[in-house]
Amino acid sequence: MMKARTLKDIIIREIRETGPMDIGRYMALALGHPKFGYYMTRDPLGARGDFTTAPEISQVFGELIGAWLADMWLRAGAPAPFTLLECGPGRGTLMADLLRAMRGVPGFHAAARLCLLETSPVLRAVQEKTLIASGLVPASACRWIEDLADLPADRPLFGVANEFFDALPIRQIVRGTAPQVFEEMCVGLDLDGSLCYLRVPDANYPQDAVDLCAPGDVFEFSPVREQVMETLCRAITAENRGRGGAFLICDYGHDRTSPGDTLQAVRHHECVPVLAEPGEADITAHVDFDRLRKHAMTQGCYASRITPQGTFLKNCGIEARVAHLIKRCADDRQADLTVKAAQRLIASGPAGTGMGALFKLMAVTDGTVPVSGLE
Ligand code: SAH
Repeated sequence: MMKARTLKDIIIREIRETGPMDIGRYMALALGHPKFGYYMTRDPLGARGDFTTAPEISQVFGELIGAWLADMWLRAGAPAPFTLLECGPGRGTLMADLLRAMRGVPGFHAAARLCLLETSPVLRAVQEKTLIASGLVPASACRWIEDLADLPADRPLFGVANEFFDALPIRQIVRGTAPQVFEEMCVGLDLDGSLCYLRVPDANYPQDAVDLCAPGDVFEFSPVREQVMETLCRAITAENRGRGGAFLICDYGHDRTSPGDTLQAVRHHECVPVLAEPGEADITAHVDFDRLRKHAMTQGCYASRITPQGTFLKNCGIEARVAHLIKRCADDRQADLTVKAAQRLIASGPAGTGMGALFKLMAVTDGTVPVSGLE
């Protein structure tokens, strides 16, 4: 048999052997294949990479998330030690800004045990540089895990995930003309042997799809995201033997479960076809916060209102923070850049396409302390 040289070859071979794969399997391989997966082989962030995230735009983002988490930690009685978790930390920028800004909170640094959920060796090396080689965190207070099952179970957890859930695999089903007839969108091979979309009859679709979908509608769901949510909930709810805490999720997505195809691939800041170059483009789908929220509640957690990023950052005092920062800027140009970067994070933009509206935040807690900023 021919030796597979690219991820596309590997995917084609798997389809030849076992038949069409669901979108979730395709996404998992495209992003996370141990050798050729998109995140495993590169640092995709920044102007010269494929996409830019909020912490890479302005330090204020990580600082205010830090203030929010530190506030929750204080309200919970400042437990020590506690796990400070970040899922998918990218370059470690958010965590670095968070930690720098929280130096002034008595006891916070001493009590924090960093836990970084990261599968990419490339990004992990960058995180090590940003957080440990820089002297910000002692190596002994920081560990990496590849699976949430390895979360330390013996202490409270406070954590954040920015643009992490959107990278977790989703699946898609399409409604036929009769309400109970759904097909699953899969990746198969066309007559030339190239990757193409195929629909496969499906009997195991989520029940809410029946009420929500009209004929032809695409409905997305994600058992992987729900599993991650469940593990986080278990870690913080006393009922499930967790030790309390709070978790903040930030991502683009919708606050009402609804049909729609949001799967997209991005390379060099442009959309590209999802099946064109697996492993070379970022593939994501919008996060259905509504579904995650309900899921967290069924786990015995409190889940906050789903709040637009602009509202959350204003509630957390972005304006005052920027006013403080520009006083320390060397010149007008730097001050102008500082203001513009913060504005980009909060702007709603035309038809809600700006980061301030498209991105949402939701907090999940053990329910023992009130949540601020999101209500
Ligand atoms: N939070 C960062 C990076 C977002 S990119 C920021 O805002 O800049 C997505 C991050 O999640 C990367 O660090 C990527 O390597 C990580 N990631 C993606 N899928 C993952 C998975 N299944 N398990 C753990 N980490 C994952």
